[in-house]
This record gives sequence, structure tokens and C-alpha cells, in this order.
Amino acid sequence: MTTVDIAEKLRDQGIRLTPQRLAIAEVVINSADHPTVRDIYSRVRDFFPYLTVATVYSTLSVLERAGLVAQLPFQKESRYDSNNTLHVNLVCTKCESIVDCDAGDNYLEKIKDRIQDSGLFQNKYQRFDIYGLCENCLKLS
Ligand SMILES: [Zn+2]
Ligand SMILES: [Zn+2]
Repeated sequence: MTTVDIAEKLRDQGIRLTPQRLAIAEVVINSADHPTVRDIYSRVRDFFPYLTVATVYSTLSVLERAGLVAQLPFQKESRYDSNNTLHVNLVCTKCESIVDCDAGDNYLEKIKDRIQDSGLFQNKYQRFDIYGLCENCLKLS
């Protein structure tokens, strides 16, 4: 997504961002590796040397409320996911990389429907993680 697209999307939701915050949004939305706050901070700081971690946190919570990114809490630290489609996160327990896996919308949608249709639970949101070893770590082991 380009900066213009992102700015427009946010403006549609009534969110106005400073250039600094827009840069944070751009980095998160265009990072497929599910970055941490520290990752985002170091990627944006190159362009905005006076950036603070607090600004990164507050911008992320704005983007989260707008539904543009999802926070994935982990025991060690949260990761941020900008992939809004139904997908599975493949989480490597060795190098901590997270790669999106397209499990086919249908399967995941079916699981959700099944739960909803049971009438025993009301779905609100979901997160699908599978833990294991990534391609790189497999090669090294
Ligand atoms: Zn790995
Ligand atoms: Zn993901």
C-alpha cells in the first residue's frame, strides 16, 4: 500500500496523522514479517531521528482501533500483523519468524461458521497460529 492510499484510508476513518505517524503506519502496513514495536521503531527512526517509542505505541493503537493492524500478543513481546485476510501464522519456535500461510479462506471460514452455528459461542475475532520450525531452521537442523 502506498503512503497516499494509507493516508486516504485513515482519513476516511476520521484519523489524521502527522508525517511521523504516517511513516509508522506505512512501515507496519507494508511489513509482512509481523514486526515488534522495536523493529518498527528502528525502521522508522532512520527517517525520523527524534522518534520516540511512545509515538510508535500510540500510533499502533490508533491503527489497531481502525482495524488496519492486529496486535498478536506473545509471551515475550507483541507482534503486529497487517494481513487482514483469514490466514494462519506459521510461528517458528527457534528463530521466532512468523510467516503467513494461506490455508484457503474456505477452511477457516468453515471453522468459524461451525462454531457460530452451534449457538454455544459468539465469534468476535480469531487468530490462527501454528508453531514449529521454519524452512531456514529446518535446513540448519
Ligand atoms: Zn526459524
Ligand atoms: Zn499474519
